[in-house]
Amino acid sequence: MQQLPHWIDGKARAPANGRWLDVFDPAAGKPFAQVADGDASDVQAAVAAAQAAFPAWSKLPNTERARWLEKLADALEARLEDFAHAESRDGGKPLKLAREMEIPRAVSNLRFFAHAATQFASESHHGQAGLNYTLRQPLGVVGTISPWNLPLYLFTWKIAPALAAGNTVVAKPSEVTPQTATMLGELMAGIGFPKGVLNIVNGLGPSVGEAIVSHPAVKAISFTGSTAVGKRIAGIAAPMLKKVSLELGGKNATLVFADSDWRDHLDTIVRSAFQNSGQICLCGSRILVERGIYSQFRDALVQRASALRVGDPIDSDVQLGPLVSQAHFDKVVAAIARARDEGGQILCGGKILERPGWFVEPTVVEGLGPDCATNRDEIFGPVVTLQPFDNDDQALSLANTGDYGLATSIWTRDLNRAHRIGAEIHAGIVWINSWLMRDLRTPFGGMGQSGLGREGGAEAMRFFTEPKNIGIALS
Ligand code: NAD
Repeated sequence: MQQLPHWIDGKARAPANGRWLDVFDPAAGKPFAQVADGDASDVQAAVAAAQAAFPAWSKLPNTERARWLEKLADALEARLEDFAHAESRDGGKPLKLAREMEIPRAVSNLRFFAHAATQFASESHHGQAGLNYTLRQPLGVVGTISPWNLPLYLFTWKIAPALAAGNTVVAKPSEVTPQTATMLGELMAGIGFPKGVLNIVNGLGPSVGEAIVSHPAVKAISFTGSTAVGKRIAGIAAPMLKKVSLELGGKNATLVFADSDWRDHLDTIVRSAFQNSGQICLCGSRILVERGIYSQFRDALVQRASALRVGDPIDSDVQLGPLVSQAHFDKVVAAIARARDEGGQILCGGKILERPGWFVEPTVVEGLGPDCATNRDEIFGPVVTLQPFDNDDQALSLANTGDYGLATSIWTRDLNRAHRIGAEIHAGIVWINSWLMRDLRTPFGGMGQSGLGREGGAEAMRFFTEPKNIGIALS
């Protein structure tokens, strides 16, 4: 069986403890590879390599760092098909999605931050007191920890700005989907990427993730994952006065007003609910619909959800693959049972597919109020609820119920309303008549239980640098 090692100091390394974990194909429910079950000694080796590489990497002209990122992007693009197949099998996502969206986005992340390396600028303040200018210096060794839902897309979203800003990195992919990040390590070795600049340590959160977070030489942690783990990381990092960026869970609202062109937008609204089987932090899982169109909208949504083709992600016409793991499948199945117990009516779906692998039908639930667990807790699966509203205030109040604050989409033709509600929504990201419209320069992140800090563009470059002000008296 294929083994996925660490990549430390430019070389593939077996775990020091000799242990390996199974990696599963979610469409078959069977292991297809093994990944290093690393621990603190592997993290120590990675941090030492990153420390040794830091002086040379941080002193490279930023144009040179940009060239390395571009070179890596070129190498990834040349292998796009292999990476898309690997991502599809490892995460159970439709091959089409991996090929057309996720791996291309990983390439874009590398290219975008290659440009950022040469475009990023710092401030100067010229005044009566003299001239102040701010240096933005790399932090040193930084840690990145990423989840399984968009494996290479989110892995590169973190390492690219960290490297562009001149840091060296110890990166931990999710143990559930480690394949493409490990392939990226191999790709880097193949193009002669400077050794020790990016070190990939595979393994479990408590052993590898926490060893990265608690290592005194790791200056900052960029984390994407669940709110529970984000809080744990914050608890370790805070007394060490370590910088953290935390991109956490969500329970996003989709607001559909009667005046919207909702029939024209139904494709996007359905995607916003079910793309990647609902396993995207930005998916809208609470659909709020103005009462005047509620029943028409509900029937159209149910019809579309029922028609989604669920099956083997490698088939080109499949729209939804399986859930990523047995544990996640069990969680989603339990959430559907709880929706029933809470009095929800399952309008479509609600069942598992009788075949190997972890497949759940796209599920639409109605009849539940804003305060029940189904409408408050993140499910992160192909499960959405419908709630009617009567006016703008009620729509806003329903949307803002709950502890999360990541993303919202608003569907209306009334731009005054869209701007007004957009400003009052408790979320870091609001889309009007669109969903997942991404411009990599914009601040990305959530409020409340959805996280701390922002990624993207200059926000990411600022996170991965230390500002140092230098004041000169001008006589
Ligand atoms: P998770 O928190 O279980 O794991 C995320 C990563 O953290 C993995 O690499 C894991 O090994 C590691 N980890 C686990 N325990 C750790 C610990 N104690 N210390 C350090 N690292 C540890 O999350 P997941 O199940 O992989 O991903 C799903 C979650 O991620 C969902 O809640 C989803 O909303 C969230 N997410 C958020 C965003 C965003 O941008 N806000 C994007 C994608 C996913």
